[in-house]
Amino acid sequence: MPSADFERFSNIIGGQLRRGQQVHHGIDPSTRKPLWDVPIAAQSDLDEAILSSKNAFASWSRTSWESRQEKLLQARDVLSENKAKMAELLTKEVGKPIQLAHLEVEHAINFLEFNAKQPPLEEKVIQDDDGLKLTMVQKPIGIVAAICPWNFPLVLAMGKIAASLVTGNCVIVKPSPFTPYSVLKFAELVQHIFPPGVFQAINGGDDLGPRLCTHPDIDKISFTGSTATGKKIMSACAATLKNVTLELGGNNASIICPDVDPKIVAPQVAVGSFFNSGQLCVASKRVYVHEDIYDEFLAVMVETVKQWKVEPTSDMQQGIMLGPVQNQMQYDIVRKFFLDSASGNHNFVLGSTPEESPENFIVKPAIVSNPPDESLVVTGEAFGPIVPVMKWKDEDEVIRRANDTLTGLGGAVWSDDLVRARRIADQIEAGTIWINSFEKPLPQAHLSGYKQSGVGGEWGREGLMVYCKPQVVHCYKAPVVVPK
Ligand code: NAD
Repeated sequence: MPSADFERFSNIIGGQLRRGQQVHHGIDPSTRKPLWDVPIAAQSDLDEAILSSKNAFASWSRTSWESRQEKLLQARDVLSENKAKMAELLTKEVGKPIQLAHLEVEHAINFLEFNAKQPPLEEKVIQDDDGLKLTMVQKPIGIVAAICPWNFPLVLAMGKIAASLVTGNCVIVKPSPFTPYSVLKFAELVQHIFPPGVFQAINGGDDLGPRLCTHPDIDKISFTGSTATGKKIMSACAATLKNVTLELGGNNASIICPDVDPKIVAPQVAVGSFFNSGQLCVASKRVYVHEDIYDEFLAVMVETVKQWKVEPTSDMQQGIMLGPVQNQMQYDIVRKFFLDSASGNHNFVLGSTPEESPENFIVKPAIVSNPPDESLVVTGEAFGPIVPVMKWKDEDEVIRRANDTLTGLGGAVWSDDLVRARRIADQIEAGTIWINSFEKPLPQAHLSGYKQSGVGGEWGREGLMVYCKPQVVHCYKAPVVVPK
């Protein structure tokens, strides 16, 4: 195994570490200081990576399912051995507290393991009689480009890497330029396990994603990121009719019924709203609490969040609950939400518009009580630590309000009455609903977005299929004799 220098980063092309003529660097969100240099892939790097994948695909796609799984398990072991350093890297690049960074690495390990333990995708016999055997097999698509966001850089990439590889595809991962480090380091650490070209990782500037989407030799784009970028990707992929999976943004509603105990549920809803400083695609971004318990629930939620330590994270201190938001662009977006609520005289029961700090991207959490349904804080995806909490009275009315959005990624329902909770959940237009829990995605659970939250989905056993193309064979047992 190569010795790992966690302060030096390379693109991984054709099994080799590749530096570059041009470099850029991430910014530590806890200090606003530059992190390590990271190469920007040139066009020649991209061409070489694609050629290397093309060369590798023929034999990798025919390697047995079991031996591909064996390699995923080896990759899992390498990641486990480097867990502490990877977690520190995540804290540095994303700004998340160290214990949450550990959680992300553990989840990434779980994704490798889940895919490494899935039974093979068997040939399906559709019909088998005297004359005809009709079968369907799942074949790998080819070269997958995995385009990833900055909020959970390692685990979201791993869902794509593990499923692509086990199904026999070659995968080229493009991390977000805001957070390139953990993915490049993981690719470097496990490179010796895979044949050259099977698993590559390249960092680039703003033009690299578009180039992947238009390249004729990339067969599939698996994208996680914003709805706005998802639309651009779908449009760019039309020219070569690529297979596309889009996991996009959402404005998820959490509905709290009057029969719950606010003392138990409000602290958990607070975690679901503010986890990772609100930078979680499935976070509860709108909270609807029944009027009978509204005041008590809000008071407990506010009290819970007030107790949390909100601080810079880069000294790896334990016990911080919320770190900074990840980058300047996101900081500016989140501030706009604060400013809009302040100018609308919304009732901030916690927090206020942050003064721009020259030292970090910390935004103290805010809770806004009962802003109008049409206000930005309710209709928009802040993707940051500001959460509106609204009152509801009637079940049909709250379901209508929850669904009154162009997106449909996640949602949560809280009730002691599981029949009622399920009835409400069934009417929410979203790909995933949690009942009596805040939002905890799992590798075995398929994730997909309704409406403008996505196209297709990934994860779970069903998620393997999105990295495959079916082939149906009509096998007539003898040529049909045409009567003379
Ligand atoms: P983003 O869309 O700005 O960027 C994501 C990736 O796309 C980056 O690697 C970026 O370099 C690349 N990219 C940007 N423009 C591109 C283009 N024209 N063509 C190809 N690639 C391009 O998203 P972000 O700001 O990194 O992430 C935050 C968003 O992601 C939020 O909306 C969040 O809800 C969403 N998200 C969704 C999920 C999910 O599973 N549905 C998970 C995490 C985040």
